[in-house]
Formats: sequence, structure tokens, C-alpha cells
Amino acid sequence: MPDKKDIDNKISPHQLDKTLGGKINVPVFQKNIKAGPEIPILANRILLGDRAALAQGITLIESKKSEDHSLAHQLIELCLPHTKSSVRIGISGSPGVGKSTFIESLGLQYIKEGRKLAVLAIDPSSSIAGGSILGDKTRMQRLSIEENAFIRPSPAGKTLGGVARNTREAIMLCEAAGYNTILIETVGVGQSEYIVESMTDLFVLLIQPGAGDELQGIKRGVVEMADLVIVNKADGDSLSLAKQAKLAYTQALHLFPPKESGALVKVLLCSSVEETGLEEIKEELARLEKHNLTSSFFNTKRSKQQLYWFEESLKNELLDRFFQHPLVKAKKIALEKDIIDNNKSPFSAAERLLKIFFKDIEA
Ligand code: GDP
Repeated sequence: MPDKKDIDNKISPHQLDKTLGGKINVPVFQKNIKAGPEIPILANRILLGDRAALAQGITLIESKKSEDHSLAHQLIELCLPHTKSSVRIGISGSPGVGKSTFIESLGLQYIKEGRKLAVLAIDPSSSIAGGSILGDKTRMQRLSIEENAFIRPSPAGKTLGGVARNTREAIMLCEAAGYNTILIETVGVGQSEYIVESMTDLFVLLIQPGAGDELQGIKRGVVEMADLVIVNKADGDSLSLAKQAKLAYTQALHLFPPKESGALVKVLLCSSVEETGLEEIKEELARLEKHNLTSSFFNTKRSKQQLYWFEESLKNELLDRFFQHPLVKAKKIALEKDIIDNNKSPFSAAERLLKIFFKDIEA
């Protein structure tokens, strides 16, 4: 591994190659990464901010092949000591509210300020239909060509829990690659907002004018999670409706209990298309970040999140190992038949299967 100071000084891959004794020329951009020197080399490239390597690292994390899991863990372990500080912002809202338009407009401003921006997504529909909210190539075109932007769609074809874990790990790789601003987009469906909240520092809820009188079918819990509410599409004919929505939400938020962080939740207007209101939004996000940092809420929240993900990883790993165990797999089919034939209760069948599993791992 190169020295941290070398990474901070951004030594060229050529110089790095020399320190690694020429190993960097091993082609890492092939489809299947194997064990051996390829993982440290991939890690080095990620630490040097190589976007293609970062994308490849995330693909490894998302791989369903069991042999890739330990490689992905190895990669994360190598990158983890080098992760740099960042702000992680969750952005949620109903489909069509303008999330990707907003992220692109805000993202371009952040890039102009010299930030390195990663956009990730958690899309519950990707686990059902195999589609993804960021899968559409026409989205965020202007942002995607920026050198300091990295956009990654939600991993498809996984359970929401699987998608969440992958995103959590992808955040770490992005931070190792020097991305100091991480935006995580999610669509307001299912449990995805709660998952995004469990991995971000600030949670932004986007709403739109037009359905201003009621809370637009957004779950109360989600509104309560918001650190900032943005009424998007505050332009043209919709401007006055947007102002009404702002008022309605400001009043509704007064009735909610105070935030754990102690910060006040503002409702701001924005037009992602006309790029108005963004300056105020950036200022508010910076203010909230500073408030949380100085009140130590930021660190407390991140510690809690780390413990939550430790717990989640344990649960996932246990479940994986249990259901992949050959004896469990074999016996489960027979027990299912017993349950259907009323020869066994679901509870005693479950107990029997657990006994088989634990007896085998103790042996
Ligand atoms: P998402 O599904 O929440 O990501 O929404 P999109 O960003 O794809 O936007 C949905 C539609 O709303 C698109 O046709 C956008 O052009 C439009 N839109 C997004 N932001 C604004 C805005 O600020 N003003 C107006 N007038 N339209 C917008």
C-alpha cells in the first residue's frame, strides 16, 4: 500500500507502479477480479480517485457471487483507513417531484465550489422490477460529464436490505476516493427513507406545489425525519401554489416535536429548472452541518449509525449462512412438506432447523 502522504499528494499511477514493483500493470479493469494482487491494486486506484476503479469496486460489492464477498470485504478493509471526512445528504420525495433535476442543479453548484460529489441511490423498485431510479441514462447528463462527479444507480435485483448494505459500503469507497459530498437519492416508497436516514447526516424532503392542502400522502414519520423541506417547482404558474405549500408545511412542522439535533426545520422554495433558491438551500445545509458538528450531534449520530450497521451486518450474515447451509437447505424442503401436511407446526419446524444448523457449526 502506498503511504497516506503519497495519496494526499496524489502520486501518479506511474510512480505508484514503481513502488509496487510493476504490479499496477496487472489489468484490473477486467470483468472478474480474482484474489491476489488485484484487490490491493484496485484499492490503490480508488484511493487515487480513479472513477473507473471506484465503479469497479462498487460492482464487486454488489456482486451476488459468494467468492466475491470476501474480495469486497478485503477491498473495503484496505480503503477504510483512508476514508476522508464528508457530508452525507439523503434526498427523498415522491416520483416526479424533481429529485434528479434538483440533484443535478445543486450538484453542479457544489462542483463549481470545488467539491467532489458522489450521487448514489436506494430504489426499492430495483428489488422488485430490476429497474432503478438512476438507471435512466438521460438523467443528470450535465452532472455526469463533470470530472468531479460520480453517479451510481441503485443496485438492481436485490432485496431492500441488500441494496442498503451495498450503498452503505459504496459510501465508504466514495469517501476513500476523496468524494467529500455524498448525495443519496431515494424515492418515497416503502422503507427506503428510513434506510437512507440511517446512513446520512442530513435528510432533505422534496415536495411540489399543487397538492398543498394535505401532506401529499407523505408519511408523517418521513416528514418528521426531515432536516430541511424543499418545495420544488416554485416557478411559472406554480409559484403561488408553491408559496401556499411552503406556508402549509411550515405550520405543520410547528406541530411536530423538536428535532433531536435541536435544529429548526426550515421550508424553502426552489426551482431546479430555473436554478433559483439553490443558494439559500446550500447555506441552510451548511448551517445545519455546522450546527450538528458543534453540538456533537453529528458524531453521536454517526456512532449510532455504525452500531446499527454492525447489528444489520450480523443479522444479514447469520441469515445468509443459515439459508446457504447444505443441511438446512436439504432439511428445509422436507419440513415445508410436513408443515403443509399438518404433521408439524411452523414453530417446531423452525426450531428443528435451527437445532440442525447450530449442532453442525458446534461440531
Ligand atoms: P424525480 O422522479 O423526482 O427524479 O423527478 P425528475 O427530476 O425526473 O423531474 C420530473 C419532472 O419534473 C421532469 O419533467 C422535470 O423537468 C420536472 N421538473 C423538475 N424540477 C422542476 C422545477 O423546478 N420546475 C419545473 N417547472 N419542473 C421541474
